[in-house]
Amino acid sequence: MNVLVIGSGGREHALVKILNRSRHTENLYAVPGNSSMTKYAEVYGDMKETDTEGIVRLAQEKNITWAVIGPEAPLNNGLADSLEDAGVKVFGPRKLEAQLESSKAFAKKIMIKYGIPTAAYQSFTNLADAAAYIKQQGAPIVIKKDGLAAGKGVAVAMTEHEALEAVKEMLAEGENHPVVIEEFLEGEEFSLMVLVNGNYILPFDIVAQDHKRAYDGDTGPNTGGMGAYAPVTHIGQAVIDEAVHQIVKPMAEAMTKEGLDYFGVMYLGAIITEDGVKVIEFNARFGDPEAQVLLSLLDSDFIDVLEAVKNKEPFDLQFSSDSMLGVILASKGYPKEYKKGEKVSIPAELEDIVFNSGLKYLEDGNYETSGGRVLLVTGRGKSLDEAKTEAYNNTAQIKFDNEALFYRNDIGERGV
Ligand code: ATP
Repeated sequence: MNVLVIGSGGREHALVKILNRSRHTENLYAVPGNSSMTKYAEVYGDMKETDTEGIVRLAQEKNITWAVIGPEAPLNNGLADSLEDAGVKVFGPRKLEAQLESSKAFAKKIMIKYGIPTAAYQSFTNLADAAAYIKQQGAPIVIKKDGLAAGKGVAVAMTEHEALEAVKEMLAEGENHPVVIEEFLEGEEFSLMVLVNGNYILPFDIVAQDHKRAYDGDTGPNTGGMGAYAPVTHIGQAVIDEAVHQIVKPMAEAMTKEGLDYFGVMYLGAIITEDGVKVIEFNARFGDPEAQVLLSLLDSDFIDVLEAVKNKEPFDLQFSSDSMLGVILASKGYPKEYKKGEKVSIPAELEDIVFNSGLKYLEDGNYETSGGRVLLVTGRGKSLDEAKTEAYNNTAQIKFDNEALFYRNDIGERGV
């Protein structure tokens, strides 16, 4: 069959790789894709992931059976709706269900109605009201911009002053998005991917841990994610079971009770608090960079998996017993302003363990940067320790100007 992947980042690079491995895949296409995907797929770099009409036309022309949508923007745009209406099987929720991620108010409303454990919150559009609420609640407190912000719309404020500054800044951006003020939750975070079709769920057996903050020791601003590893062996099965049975399953069921029909991956960002596992956020797509490490460990044929989910059949996901760890190399300045067009050179023997997030291929065999997060360098091993050593050894072999890129030195430290 012919398969189409939408998106251009490292997560989609991982999806292309795993779909290329499927015995069902005959031809693979990627829109807009990236230069590292050309090895496996026909890449339509000139098309935009938000060009719904163009993508539907391409899917029809190429006789696509399955389309897998990686990023949140096209989901939020209703690409799944349009492709499905054109007869394509789509992995990724429709616009209505994608609100699980795109609207914090939508997700919170369902969680509160169905008693799914999450942080208390209130939404504000007015500075004076927000300020009064912050004063009443005290710090630490969390300020979030509603709507899609690629992980960069969150301020974890340790003082009331910081909280107020964050609210001012977010409201001043004036995009008509309310600001959400949330109870601060303390504990260890993890991400769980669950494949969902209505009230059918197929959880990944292993969880991953992302590193949201820009700098070592979990300092600096929040980012889209600076590195990830899996499995997280110090998070036991009981916690994973709690997340599945107290959170994801009830959420999938709640959505069906609300007349919704979710189909795709439900990403749970969770935190283990003293009062049990609580939701930080749901995403309507795979996490990036978690997808790169998790999908690398998934041995099952991915089309078999998608078909099982589509048909709501039981499926035994096969994961390797290895550990996998990835380090993001990002442009200096990210998640704020940064330069593009910086040279990066990747030794040929590492091409297969590198995931391209924001790199353009140059004629001379080198790459140049084209985004904030540039690439994920991975390492694999029998233990997390081994995977970590391997990942950092590999990172040391990537050549770039030290003034151009940076990375965290402590990915996976908690697990090791
Ligand atoms: P993304 O979708 O890219 O993961 P986002 O913009 O939806 O990001 P969140 O995932 O909600 O943002 O928050 C980003 C990070 O901020 C979390 O991973 C967590 O570290 C921190 N955070 C968010 N909410 C809370 C909270 N209530 N208490 C403590 N920390 C929080």
